[in-house]
Amino acid sequence: MTKYFTHYRTNEEWEDEQKFSEPEGVLNHACSKKFRYMGISKGDWIFIVTILKGKLFLGGKIVVDRICKNRTEAQKIFGCDVDKLSDRNNNQEHLIGESTELGMCSIHVALDMIKELRFFKIEKGRPVITSKLLKLVFEKDKYGSDTDKLDRQTLRGLSGLRQLTEESALLLNNLLEEGYKLSNQNNTTLNNKVVEANQPEQDPPWVRDELILILNLYFQHSQDNLTQNHPKIIEVSEILNSLSIHPESSDQATLRSPGDIYMQLRNFQRFELNDEQSELKSSNSLEEKIWIELSVNKENLNNLAKLIITSGYLNSPQVNVVDEEEEFPEGKIAYREHRRRERNRKLVKKAKQARKSRDGYLRCEVCNFDFHKAYGDVGEDYIECHHTKPVSQLKPHDKTTIRDLALVCANCHRMLHRKRPWLHPLELKEIIRQVQSSSHQ
Ligand SMILES: [Zn+2]
Ligand SMILES: [Zn+2]
Repeated sequence: MTKYFTHYRTNEEWEDEQKFSEPEGVLNHACSKKFRYMGISKGDWIFIVTILKGKLFLGGKIVVDRICKNRTEAQKIFGCDVDKLSDRNNNQEHLIGESTELGMCSIHVALDMIKELRFFKIEKGRPVITSKLLKLVFEKDKYGSDTDKLDRQTLRGLSGLRQLTEESALLLNNLLEEGYKLSNQNNTTLNNKVVEANQPEQDPPWVRDELILILNLYFQHSQDNLTQNHPKIIEVSEILNSLSIHPESSDQATLRSPGDIYMQLRNFQRFELNDEQSELKSSNSLEEKIWIELSVNKENLNNLAKLIITSGYLNSPQVNVVDEEEEFPEGKIAYREHRRRERNRKLVKKAKQARKSRDGYLRCEVCNFDFHKAYGDVGEDYIECHHTKPVSQLKPHDKTTIRDLALVCANCHRMLHRKRPWLHPLELKEIIRQVQSSSHQ
């Protein structure tokens, strides 16, 4: 199983590396005394980090290829001289990464993300896997509360190494990919540059309903054969994404991935292992509380899970507020899926912006109604989006694009949804034309 670590570089090492790394220099080497001691092996990920003036910076990722026990061995592989390997006393292990094209970068990690990072505890000199995870430590102000500056020592760990959870590693990895994407767009190299990458949107915290469904899955299947793409895990992921538990999230169709479900199953497994060693004393997280409450009563758990699935479908807030007519010609679930896609906030914004910069105004594609013209400032920038793909052709993991969205007024949108199968905007436009021409005769 892949393990994930941060490797701390001192500010001097960091600055040297930024200064001297040529554009073609790649990040594939690190020195420490404890790589093997920490159990690091081929395939593990090492994130290079430093803390400068209380801020966390990410320098890149090394995927471990091998660990050499000393400088001589490393030199044979690199075929270069001693000084470049910055191990003056010849007493360190040398970690060599898989081949890569990527060099050092310097990406500022935002405070929100720092607070999400979780590390394993070191006990008796080794990292141990327990349900107690550690956060990074901040400097205190004079009243003893956290400032927004990180403590300089917090990432030093054992010889610069700390082990972090898979979730935390994926956060850093996303950030890194954003950073590299950004530098490709600007056609610049990341070397010697501090990049403020868009911090990827955080998933909303897990709620009770979601965790109950996952715990129920945990007890219904042996953990041995559950992999990330097991059909049961995919099924639970699809159920969770269809329940509209987090209407505020911009892309609900992919909110809880099979990987997320898998991670939660592993969390529950940790509680079970700890239970056996009776180490689980205090309950902190919601996961722990639900474990303590329901792992001892599997019948209640199963009933709750069934209730959530059935009533969740019927009581979706989005279905109830939208339509007084209570007519869902395509079925409630299909209707909700359709509405979810056309309400994707990011996409709606993008579609409106694209149209406005093309035409200079927003008008209903069916009847030409212009909210700004009719209502003045109140109506400025208002228009609704309608997803034009037939519901029967929607697949759970299809991505909606702005080409799928028609911009229509509220009246036309209602009419589009009124009959089964739903009308296409062009069909409705034709209907209006016919009605008008017949009334003029
Ligand atoms: Zn209209
Ligand atoms: Zn619609």
